Amino acid sequence: MNVDDLPVRVIAAKRDGGKLSTAQIEGFVRGLVHAEGTGGWADSQVAALAMAIVLRGMDETETVALTRAMTHSGEVLRWAAANLHGPILDKHSTGGVGDKLSLMLAPIVAACGGVVPMISGRGLGHTGGTLDKLEALPGYGVTPPREVLLSTLRSTGCAIVSAGPTLAPADRRLYAIRDITATVDSVPLITASILSKKLAAGLQGLVLDVKVGSGAVMQHLPAARSLADSLVQVARGAGLPARALITDMNEVLGRSAGNALEVDEALRYLRGDEREPRQHALTLALAGHLLQLGGLAETPEAGAAMATQVLHSGTAAERFAQMVAALGGPHDVLADAQLPVAPVIKPVCAAHGGWLQQWDVRALGWAVVALGGGRVRPGDVVDPRVGLAQVVARGACVQAGEPLAFVHAADEAGAEAAVAAVLAAVQLGEVAPAVLPLVAEVVNA
Ligand code: URA
Repeated sequence: MNVDDLPVRVIAAKRDGGKLSTAQIEGFVRGLVHAEGTGGWADSQVAALAMAIVLRGMDETETVALTRAMTHSGEVLRWAAANLHGPILDKHSTGGVGDKLSLMLAPIVAACGGVVPMISGRGLGHTGGTLDKLEALPGYGVTPPREVLLSTLRSTGCAIVSAGPTLAPADRRLYAIRDITATVDSVPLITASILSKKLAAGLQGLVLDVKVGSGAVMQHLPAARSLADSLVQVARGAGLPARALITDMNEVLGRSAGNALEVDEALRYLRGDEREPRQHALTLALAGHLLQLGGLAETPEAGAAMATQVLHSGTAAERFAQMVAALGGPHDVLADAQLPVAPVIKPVCAAHGGWLQQWDVRALGWAVVALGGGRVRPGDVVDPRVGLAQVVARGACVQAGEPLAFVHAADEAGAEAAVAAVLAAVQLGEVAPAVLPLVAEVVNA
């Protein structure tokens, strides 16, 4: 081995602000998947390099090399022999509160002719995770055998599942170490982490929903823009057509946050019972861009019109129901979802009247976690029943005593604590706040 490729030399090079060679980056990624003593890097060395990258950054060439090496650290899915009819498409969100869009988007795009093997994650920090949401449906299996995955994709066009142990294993180890060493917030590390999993999934088009605001990882536009630019450029460098929408996360998306509550809202959306306007507009925008990227629509607007049509016809709802049944969930989820219900439900009443100026959305996300709807430690069991429902929109005018949200809790003490957290997260004022754009920017390759 070249002496410059020794872990200690690689760490020192980045600590001193140097540029890492592709060989050094590939050696690091090999070190992530091999056991210590057989060429593997120790956790301490991985953490030290991650911190050096957080502090010193990586340029585009280094980020592309890291992404490529992590993509090839495990299996790279190939769909050519699988007899699937349509372009392989996916959407990824950088994480928010109440972000249940994957549950609607996958069946919509499938109903429009795309194939969506949506590799999803679990809740992270204050943000919710699609897999935790779907597991609120009794029996739904997020790790189906390969044959079941393929037959579900063939029959319904979508399958929302977990990455499984063979897909980008380098990311699994690196992510676990970053999570506990304050090294998550880094554009090159986030880029490589997200894209390695998406590239390993063999996609042909990817739309990225980069959230910005109080409930997002990136709280300000310049940071969100630099993450969006990096994701789109690196995806393009790796041959994956991608587009990023920078979207507002200064309020809960839709009206609920919490696993079963969000699945229930998604079902009401798909059935057409209730479509909260912001959530509906974002669903259509993301669907439109994804359908265009996949060559199924001429323009994002034409794609959004196709999405509207499959929602109105009920085809998207049917696709979702077929996917749930194929993956072990309730037989007829549209008629009887069998979602668990919290034993304690309490309103959070406004102390005085006024315009809802702002929500601290991150605090709302943590309130859901504290209720048991997310994890504080790896391996914690999530309570699917708990969360916040009927959350009032930013910009609404409320009267004293009117409910700002309803807390769904496992017990009285949890409910009381969540009511206090929600009250501390809201700001009511005398004038209407400025309207924030739902889609701040579209970043194209
Ligand atoms: N999501 C990921 O998959 N990886 C990150 O690093 C951050 C968000």
